[in-house]
Amino acid sequence: MIRLPIAEPGRYYHGRRAIVLRSGMLLEDERRYLWHELVHADRNDRACHGSIAAEVSVEREAARRAMPMSSLLWAFQLEWQRHLVASLLKLPEEWVQFRLHAAHPAEKNQLRALHRVRRQGETDEQESA
Ligand SMILES: [Zn+2]
Repeated sequence: MIRLPIAEPGRYYHGRRAIVLRSGMLLEDERRYLWHELVHADRNDRACHGSIAAEVSVEREAARRAMPMSSLLWAFQLEWQRHLVASLLKLPEEWVQFRLHAAHPAEKNQLRALHRVRRQGETDEQESA
C-alpha cells in the first residue's frame, strides 16, 4: 500500500497486487478506503471501476469487515452517539451509518437489545440517585 496524490480516494492494481490511497486523507477516510480496496484485492478485481452494483457490494463487504458485530457492540457499549462510536472505531461517521443501515436483521436486534440494556441501566442509576 502506498500513498500518492491521485484523484480518487483509492485504487487497486491487480497486476502489481498494489493498493494506492490518495495522500493527505484523514485517518478515518484512509482506513475506510483501504478496507474497500482490500475487498477488491480479495475478489481479484481487475477493472478500475466495476458496475455500480459491484461497487455497492464491495462497499457493504468492506464495511462488514471493518465493523464486525463484536466491534460495533464494543463501541456501542461505550458510547451511544454515532459520531462518538465512529471516533472509537476510527472510521467516518457516514460509514458507520452505512454499516448500520445495511446490517442484517439479527445484527439490528442485537444492537436494539444492547440499547434496551443501556437505557435500563440509566433508569436504574436515576432511581438510585
Ligand atoms: Zn471500488
